[in-house]
This record gives sequence, structure tokens and C-alpha cells, in this order.
Amino acid sequence: MSLAASPAAQFIDEPARSIPVHGDYDVVVLGGGPAGIAAAASAAAHDCKTILVERYGFLGGAGTAAGVTNFCGLFANVHGDVRRVVHGVADDLLARIDRLGGLNAPHMVLGKTNAQAYDTTAYKSAADDFLISRGVDLLFHALGAGVVAEAGVLTALIVETKSGRRAIRGRVFIDCSGDGDLASWAGAPFELEADNLLYPTMMFRVNGVDPDLAGEAWNAIPALMREAEKRGTRFARQGVVVRPQRNPVEWRVNATQVASRNGRALDGTDADELSYGEIEGRRQAQAFVKFLQAEVPGFAQAYIVDTPPQLGIRETRRIVGAYQLSGEDVLRCASFPDTVGVNGWPLEKHVAGNVEWSWPPIPQSRGFNHLPYRMLLPQRLRNLLVAGRCASMTHEGQSAARVSGGCFVMGEAAGTAAHLALARNTAVAEVDVAALQRLLEASGAYLGRDVTTGELVR
Ligand SMILES: Cc1cc2nc3c(=O)[nH]c(=O)nc-3n(C[C@H](O)[C@H](O)[C@H](O)COP(=O)(O)OP(=O)(O)OC[C@H]3O[C@@H](n4cnc5c(N)ncnc54)[C@H](O)[C@@H]3O)c2cc1C
Repeated sequence: MSLAASPAAQFIDEPARSIPVHGDYDVVVLGGGPAGIAAAASAAAHDCKTILVERYGFLGGAGTAAGVTNFCGLFANVHGDVRRVVHGVADDLLARIDRLGGLNAPHMVLGKTNAQAYDTTAYKSAADDFLISRGVDLLFHALGAGVVAEAGVLTALIVETKSGRRAIRGRVFIDCSGDGDLASWAGAPFELEADNLLYPTMMFRVNGVDPDLAGEAWNAIPALMREAEKRGTRFARQGVVVRPQRNPVEWRVNATQVASRNGRALDGTDADELSYGEIEGRRQAQAFVKFLQAEVPGFAQAYIVDTPPQLGIRETRRIVGAYQLSGEDVLRCASFPDTVGVNGWPLEKHVAGNVEWSWPPIPQSRGFNHLPYRMLLPQRLRNLLVAGRCASMTHEGQSAARVSGGCFVMGEAAGTAAHLALARNTAVAEVDVAALQRLLEASGAYLGRDVTTGELVR
């Protein structure tokens, strides 16, 4: 193949070519994180022929690929009572992780709500089994690379695979890539605030901890960090999380913070910055484990057992859809008539050097906001839904609803809505919301309509 070079040699022209069609589907889901798993599972449960395309060889998204190993957003503090508020698809998946022995009991976070840790390996296998049991076709090691669209209608997703470039034809597409890749290729408006992104983190796990000596080390670590700083140690950030996994000799460490060379949060859609960030993240991990070994009781023999396949990116593109969930919506526990589920996680802003938390009033408020169907609807496109951390939210709204619980909710709603759009031959924006809500509740999802103390937003 000959490629013609442009005069300035900054671009080359790629010749047009015909590419094989990998398959024809009712629903094509890009991305296998919590949003993509839930979207594919729910579409397939409604008898849609569904494929999930994932660039790695396993599911879980940031939850496995970035080493997160902890579900947030499944619970809310409802008037002082910590309750599980995300059900539906998440119930089945978590039960499968638990059956593999990979799920911790829920633990308290900052005295306000619960989170729940898991083993990466169990999550991967449970998610495989879950989607296969629902009849979803899985295409791993396939990088989404473009779309074919005409007059606001998507007809195919282009993927790069080891077998070559392929097209996957579909009737409805769901972008669960986290980065809004598919939506941006399709021309959907989005925001990417390069100077105001949540900072990324290279997660890691240590093994060899003495659990008896370590005790509740997470309570002691902030003071130990302050003491070490007085002696000259420099940390990338405060507000670190160091907590045990299921076997208490193994702990996860969420303590690094990766800026780009100019100090602002690294942009996870920039290939050069990502390459720099992977190396910088691993460097910071090695530095932090030295602090743990030297200063924290129970960690003298600890060693890094795993740095994950990729740097943990919290925020990149957010589509600007029919409604943008805001930080204000989270703090005032907003209600929406088109609720498809709830978010009980607070604003968790990873700013330079720190993590800032903002909660709805507890226990006065119900502690969760509704997630409206409109946040899944990009502009201008008839057959595209966007779910997960790239859905339509402001920077602050995303700092809350981006966690796993909210992503399961959005994915389940998107997969169910895709089914309704196909069954009734409508645009996704014209899906009958009451019918969607009925189907979601029939599948066990909680829409938060029985606790009515939130402020109604239309
Ligand atoms: C460091 C860190 C710590 C966090 N801690 C927690 C926590 O403790 N608890 C919690 O609940 N949440 C936590 N989060 C947030 C949470 O993990 C994410 O927001 C959530 O996973 C987002 O889900 P998603 O499905 O939208 O996207 P992701 O989980 O990002 O999944 C997107 C998937 O799409 C795939 N993909 C992307 N682009 C393409 C492409 N072009 N082609 C093919 N595949 C593609 C990716 O490989 C990935 O598997 C954390 C996030 C980070 C980064």
C-alpha cells in the first residue's frame, strides 16, 4: 500500500478501502465497564441481538483495568440510614462476584455511607459469565476507531482488531467508552475542560501486610504522612485511601495523583500525556510504598503485588445532552420526572494535591438524587445513547455520578431504552419514559420514587 505524503509531511492521506463486516446487531455497545456491562446485559435480556466491544481482553472497565477494586455509589445515607439504592443488573453481577469469593462486606466511608471492595479476578470472571448467560456476544481486543453515520443516523462502528479493521453494523449504539469516543466521532457536542479535569491516579495493591499490626491503619496514615512531610517527604496528594482487600494481607492503595508536565490534570484523551502518565504513576507508586514500609505499622514487609494495566482516568469528555446533571442536583437531592435510577455518592473532586468532598445534608436529606433519562441522550443523533462517566453531566455532577453505582444505573437504562426504541421504531429521544420506568422496575431497578423529599427539577 502506498501512502501519499502531504507537502508539510504533517499528514498523510489514507486511501479509502472496503472492510469486512464483522456482524449485524440490534444493539452495539462500546466499552465493557460498569455502564457497558449493564447496557449489554439489559439490552440482551430484552431479546436484542447485542455485541459488546472492548479494547482489553476482559470486562470491568476502570474497575479492573485501572485497579479500582471497590464499588462506590451502591449505597446512600437516607435520613441517617445507610441503604443499598442500586439494584437491577448490579444485584446479579455482585452475587456472581460473591459466589467466586471475591466480594468484601460493605465498609463505611468517611462515616457517611458504604462502599464495597472486590477482587479484580473475580469481577472479570463474574462479568464474563453474566454477559454470556444473557446471550451477549463479546468482542475483546477490539479498539473502536470510528463510525459510519449519515444524517444523524449511525449505521456502523469501525473497530481495529488483530484480524484487521472491521465494521460492526447496528441499529442502536450505546457509547460506554468512558471517554465518549463513539459520540465524539459521531459529532455529538461534548465538553472536555482541559484546565478543569479531575486528576487521575495510578492505583496499586500491596501484599505482605501484617493485618494485626496494621489494624485500622487507614485512620493513622494521614497523621503519619504529616510527620513524614515535616522530615522532607513529598506526597502527590492528601486524602489517600489505603484499605484491606478480602484477604487482609492485601491492601489497595489510592494515593497517587498524576499531573501533566504543566501541572494541570493529565488529559486521558491525549496519547502523549497518557504515555507520560503511566510512567509517572508507577514512579509515584514506588515512592509511596517506601513510605508505607518505613512509617506504617504492619507494612514493613509489604510489596507492590500489582500495578494495573492502565492509569486511572476519572474524567475526559462529557457529552452535552438533553440534560446535564449538575453538582447542585447532587447536593439538593434533585428529583426528575424521567428518573431511571439514583446516585447516592457525593461530589468527590480530585483537585491539585487533594480530594474535596461535598455531601447533601445528612441526615436531613434523603441522600440521593435521581438520574434522568435525558442525561443519556446526545444531541443530533437518532440512535445513539451515552452511559457512564461520559454521559451528560457538568464537571461537578460527574465528580459524583461517575462512580460504579451510577454507571450501572445509566447502563441498565440505556440498554432497556435501546430495546424500546427498536421495538417501537422510534428515535432514542422519543422513547416512552413511563414504559422505560416500568421495565426497569420490573427488572428490579430502584428509581427512588418512594422517598419524595428531594427537590423536583423538570
Ligand atoms: C483511580 C480511580 C479510582 C476510582 N475509585 C472508585 C471507587 O473506589 N469506586 C467506584 O465505584 N468508582 C471509582 N472510580 C470511578 C469508576 O471506576 C469509573 O468512573 C467507572 O468505572 C466508569 O464506568 P464506565 O463504564 O463509564 O467507564 P470505564 O469503567 O472507564 O469503562 C470504559 C471501558 O471502555 C473501554 N474503551 C474505552 N475506549 C474504547 C475504545 N475506543 N474501544 C474499545 N474499548 C474502549 C475501556 O477499556 C473500558 O473497559 C475510580 C476511578 C479512578 C480512575
